[in-house]
Amino acid sequence: MPHKSPESPAAVHASALVIDTHADTPQRMLDDHYDLTQPLNGGYLNFASAKEGNLGAEFFSIWVDPKLYQGHYARRTLELIDTVYQQAAAHPDRMMMAYSPNDILRARREHKLAALMGIEGGHSIEDSLGLLRDYYRLGVRYMTLTWSNSNDWADSSGDIDDPSVHHTQDGLTDFGKDVVYEMNRLGMMVDISHVSDRTFYRAVITSRAPVFASHSSARALTNAPRNMTDDMLRAVARSGGPSSHGGVVMVNFYSAFISDAWRNAWNAQAPERQAAENAQIAQWKAAGIPITYEMTDAMDKQWAAKIPRPPLSMLIDHIDHIAKVAGIDHVGLGSDFDGIPSSPQGLDSAADLPKITAALMARGYSAEDCRRILGENFLRFFRDVQATAKQLQAHPDQRPAITRQQPFRKQ
Ligand SMILES: [Zn+2]
Repeated sequence: MPHKSPESPAAVHASALVIDTHADTPQRMLDDHYDLTQPLNGGYLNFASAKEGNLGAEFFSIWVDPKLYQGHYARRTLELIDTVYQQAAAHPDRMMMAYSPNDILRARREHKLAALMGIEGGHSIEDSLGLLRDYYRLGVRYMTLTWSNSNDWADSSGDIDDPSVHHTQDGLTDFGKDVVYEMNRLGMMVDISHVSDRTFYRAVITSRAPVFASHSSARALTNAPRNMTDDMLRAVARSGGPSSHGGVVMVNFYSAFISDAWRNAWNAQAPERQAAENAQIAQWKAAGIPITYEMTDAMDKQWAAKIPRPPLSMLIDHIDHIAKVAGIDHVGLGSDFDGIPSSPQGLDSAADLPKITAALMARGYSAEDCRRILGENFLRFFRDVQATAKQLQAHPDQRPAITRQQPFRKQ
């Protein structure tokens, strides 16, 4: 019997369905009229880099800056959703809107980038289950319960130690639990990136479907409060009902989440950086200049460039750690492209994704392992969430009652 020649990393990557669950590109599209046919110009994602990196599906992040858009979160949310649709409409030959695992597979057969959407931060629903349902109808398939800001019903790791911010008693208020139940019923994936530890555990206990982290790394390796402890990694892997295959942790590429040295240097320059950036923003505002994503992003990148980038191996360490602690079936990629001012050396855009496969194989990961990490794990999780939604919709009696009265009482 002739030996089957081992597949090369390039061949493995080319054969894989590659799914990334977090890119902040919609802000570029909306504020700076960025089009994915254009050169990267400092960004991480366009059609050319996606093709070179064999990126099959991208979750475009619908992120509403809670300070800048205070008072009209829903409007900004709807405009960001629209900008993703506009991009797909402008390039029907290269990109298609996708709403399900089957859509992702269809896009792949048609050699198009599957475009999906996730809302980053529960403040976008403005405490309304009706808005949550509307966002689902518009195609939003996951929601991060909080961004760096706590909202009225869930707490964030970003301000959990700030006594001036109101926090919940148990991680989720009764309304917050209703939000999770309604997401389960709709088939919207529950994303626990960014939430406080208490909210994390409350969400895991509450959710009928498995949960996931759309863009988080391992706290055992890099001590960021937004990263996940080993216990949390295991809890995600085991989340969901008895018929579930568990959730997934999609690793964030941000230098501050994969390297303590980088993180410490970034935190050390924070006072100086924030003062300089605030002064610049005040100057723009005074001059009546509208502040766009690319303007604030460029400021952060200037400061980040003063700190040496971590090697790619440190990102691979995080993938490896999560694969070992949570299990090989519970890890994937959540780059945070266009939402981070620094990434590891050699990882400059979506075009560099094959380097991850090569590095994993160099560490002994099999072709099959790599394909799971690159996209199959996430696809299985997405299917589980949809199956749970079907069950809940078929048996509405088995589902806890939804709060009918709004506004709800804060806890
Ligand atoms: Zn984020």
